[in-house]
Parts: sequence; C-alpha cells; structure tokens
Amino acid sequence: MSSIDLRSFIRDVPDHPKEGILFRDLTPLLEDPQALRAAVEAVAEPFRNQGIEQVVGIESRGFIVGAPVALALGTGLVIIRKAGKLPHEVVREEYALEYGTDVIEMHADSVGPGHKVLLVDDLIATGGTAAAAVKLLTKAGAEIVGAAFLIELADLGGRKALGLDRVHSVITY
Ligand code: AMP
Repeated sequence: MSSIDLRSFIRDVPDHPKEGILFRDLTPLLEDPQALRAAVEAVAEPFRNQGIEQVVGIESRGFIVGAPVALALGTGLVIIRKAGKLPHEVVREEYALEYGTDVIEMHADSVGPGHKVLLVDDLIATGGTAAAAVKLLTKAGAEIVGAAFLIELADLGGRKALGLDRVHSVITY
C-alpha cells in the first residue's frame, strides 16, 4: 500500500455546479505525479491477475482514470460516450436523470460475448451513470468482473444500484 494521503489531493468546492452540491475536484490529484501514480495503482490493484480483457471508461473523467488503469492491467480501453459522439455502429442505453433522460453509447463491436471487463469511472455518486453502463455492457454480453472508482460518495448508495459483486473505491466520503 502506498503511504500517500490521496484524500488530501481532492479539493472540495461547495455549491458547484449548483447550490447544495459539494463538488469533489480531482484536478489537484491529477496534477501531482506521485498522487496520480498512486491513485492509478490503487484503482487497478484488486483487479490484477483476474483475467480482465478490457477496461471500460465512462465519458469523460472515466477516460482520464480508465486509460492508465488499462495500462496498469495490460489491457485495452473501451470507451462509453454521450450520444452522437462515436462514429461507427453503436449500442445505446437511455437512463433517468434528476430531470429528463440521458443516453450513453458504445461501439457495437467493442466488447464481445463473454469478454471479461472492468468498468472504471472517476467517481460514483447516485450510480445512475455507471448502472446504465452496466446495462449496456450486459446487453453486449460482457462478463463484468467489477467496477472501480477513485472516489465514492457512500451516502448516495450508488454501489447498490450497480448490482455487481465487486465494487471497489479508493477514497470514500
Ligand atoms: P452518478 O451518476 O450520480 O453516480 O454521477 C456520475 C458522475 O457525475 C461522476 O462520474 C462524476 O463525474 C459526477 N459527479 C457527481 N457528483 C459529483 C460530485 N459531488 N463531485 C464531483 N463529481 C460528481
């Protein structure tokens, strides 16, 4: 285990992007070489030697965490994007927001039946986004070994929404 206090690199920004939200800003962590390396290691660690074939990152901060985690695990990176961004044939999943709905997409040929994948994002709050990604990957036939997050807002109960056996987070609030 690294002795670096990763939590001290997360900046709390009250009332962003709107009143009442305490935003957990990870840019100070990204900007520090030791903290960045330790954070990537800590996200990847439980999933070493588990036969993971692809890391799946969710737009957009999930890409920042997902790409180095894929390198750490020796896998490639699959990206799940907001609607309309991916150029080739996609599979899509619509999910509920506080007001209205949103859509995420993945290339239809990114993940094959039985592929062992690890879902990665920067932060899990309500779990709505990650749960939609789980549905998308399940539709594609993937075997989701687990989900890994740098930050978990535990009070919001997001991990339950995923319905996965293994949900890993490094910094919990
Ligand atoms: P959710 O679908 O509620 O789990 O939230 C998904 C995404 O929203 C996360 O990947 C974060 O990028 C962002 N997010 C939600 N709440 C916060 C917060 N308090 N601080 C920073 N980012 C957040």
